[in-house]
Formats: sequence, C-alpha cells, structure tokens
Amino acid sequence: MFDSKNPQRTPISELGEFGLIDHLVKNAKSKLPNTALAMGDDAGLIDHGAYFTAITTDLLVEGVHFDLSYMPLKHLGYKSVVVNLSDIYAMNGTAEHITVGIAVSNRFPVEALEEIYEGIHLACERYNVDLIGGDTTASTSGLMISITATGRVEKAKATKRSGAKDNDLIVISGDVGGAYMGLQILEREKQVFIENPDMQPELGGHEYILERQLKPEARKDIVDLLHNLQVQPTSMIDISDGLSSEILHLSKASNHQFNVYENKIPIDPSIYTLCEEFNLNTTTVGLNGGEDYELLFTISIEDHDKIKANPHLSVIGYVKEGSGANLITRDDKVVELKAQGFKHHE
Ligand code: ADP
Ligand code: MG
Repeated sequence: MFDSKNPQRTPISELGEFGLIDHLVKNAKSKLPNTALAMGDDAGLIDHGAYFTAITTDLLVEGVHFDLSYMPLKHLGYKSVVVNLSDIYAMNGTAEHITVGIAVSNRFPVEALEEIYEGIHLACERYNVDLIGGDTTASTSGLMISITATGRVEKAKATKRSGAKDNDLIVISGDVGGAYMGLQILEREKQVFIENPDMQPELGGHEYILERQLKPEARKDIVDLLHNLQVQPTSMIDISDGLSSEILHLSKASNHQFNVYENKIPIDPSIYTLCEEFNLNTTTVGLNGGEDYELLFTISIEDHDKIKANPHLSVIGYVKEGSGANLITRDDKVVELKAQGFKHHE
C-alpha cells in the first residue's frame, strides 16, 4: 500500500516497464543455493542437480492485452498458455506444467469460462504440458489470466540472454510483423463495425496474419530442431515485445554490439502490400510489431553450415565487441536501433 509517511508519488511512466521492474527488484538477494538464475531472463532457473527447472509467469489483462470484441475466448485461453511456454523454450528447455490464475467478473457465464478452458486444454495437448492447478476469483474490472509455466532444462543446453560473443551470428525463427498487422486489421474492422453495426467484418485474405495475432504458436519445434542439428545457441530470447526491443535485451545482457541487416529481417510477403494500404513502413513493423513469439538467438559462426539451408531460420546479422545495436539499412547506412522506432540520419 501507499505509505502515508512517504508522500512522494513518482508516476510509473517516469520509469517505464523495464525501469520499474529494475527498481522493484534491485534489492532482492537470492538466499537459496539452488537459485541458479533470478530475474532479467525469460524464465528463472532452479538447480536440481542433474537439470534446471525453468519458471515463468505472464499476466494477460482485458483491455490491455486483449479485446474481447474480436478475441474469441477459446483463442484467448490458447494464447495465454502459448505466451508462457514461449518463455520456457527461450531458455532452450521443455515446457512441462502450468498453473492458471483467472479473475472474472459476473458478466461472464460459465460457458464463457468453458470456452477459455477449451483453448487452455488444446494448448496443453498440442505442447505436451499438464495443467496442475491455479486460482479462480471474482474481478470488478474485466477478465485477467495469469499463467505460470515450468519446464525442464538440461544444464548443458540452458541458454540465457547473456552469452553472445564476438563474431556470433544473429538468427531468428519464422517471420515478424504478422501479429501486429493482424491487430491492425482487427482494429480497423472493429471501428467499421462501431460506425455501422450492419457491416460484416472484412477479414478474408488475411488468414495468416490474423492467426499470428489470435492463435500464435510457441517455437517448441525450433528448440527440437536445434537439438537435432546439435546447435547450442550462445544466447536466446523470445520475441514478445518486438524484434528491436529483444535485440537490445540480448545486446545488454551479453554486453556486446548487435548488428542487424534491414534486408535480412524475415517478413511475410502479404505484409508488404498491407503496409502500403495502412501507410506503414515494413521495416518499422518488422522491428517493433511485437507478439510474434518467434525465437531470436545467437550461434557460433562455426555452426552456420548446420542452419543455413533451413527454411525456418534466417541469419539477420552479427555480434561484435561493444554495446548497443545497429540496423544496416538497404542503402548501407548504419542506424542506431532503439527499442521503439528508429531514425534515418539522412
Ligand atoms: P518476458 O517478456 O520474457 O515475459 P518481461 O519483459 O515480462 O519478460 O520481464 C522481464 C524480466 O523481469 C523477467 O525476468 C521477469 O521475470 C522479471 N519481472 C517482471 N515483472 C516482475 C515483477 N513484478 N517482480 C519480479 N520480477 C519481474
Ligand atoms: Mg520472453
């Protein structure tokens, strides 16, 4: 609670999300010898001798993370599991168990919760994860779902955000920007509907990006693939906030400079035409879109041959000694990458 003896009121916006987290946990000290990794990565790690257990939590709030006017409840349940599993895979681990906390107001009937759980069960089935508990409570303001996922990580395979080295290659799975463009379509059709409720939403032809937004998948297949190819990433993170922001997280945690080629950023062809329609810059969408749940990682240059022919993986740049991150543009200019947006020095 707000302490009346300390009348200082600092707006949260002054610190920003990551500044706030740093501020809150700066005095936390691990006491237990089996706490192997605390805060600052995609999941915490607990040492069990032969292996690590990874633990992560994500909270989804109605009106902030999802809009029920276009998010089907089943998809919401599915997505809320997937976004957590993605953080376990980002440690190069295998997700195993989840617990589900749900806060719901009385405007939701039992059937609505059943639909959410259909999605939760489907994700558990698809990713071979067991639901083992949770908590259910009333809410005065909308729906909230908080999921905690645990997983098992082989010690030799555990991959943190730190660990990228000089000359490493930067690799990304799948493509980026789709989830964001899916959201643009959904928001546009929502506005059309608000202005004219007789209009049917025009969603046809946008299946790929709508699925990226409404029913994302976590890249368990990439963790398995890297295992089969015998590639040990030197650092890894999942792309929840946007490629740019995640590159900067890896760069900061690894204390190295990340250099990314604009023309190597994997973007689905359908996004190019759509960006023109929405008057958006494709690279900006690819860098800052967010919610793609792809894996971004670095590998030793010696492993390049093992991954280079793989259609699921793109090498987008390289690591050097130094700090921060740069975008090498199509016309060979070097531009400093920022978490949100980038400026062309022209
Ligand atoms: P991700 O995008 O991988 O889910 P976040 O950006 O949500 O990670 O969080 C960044 C780091 O801060 C993570 O290591 C997370 O565990 C930690 N963190 C976030 N919120 C809190 C909190 N309220 N208390 C302690 N640690 C937190
Ligand atoms: Mg993450």
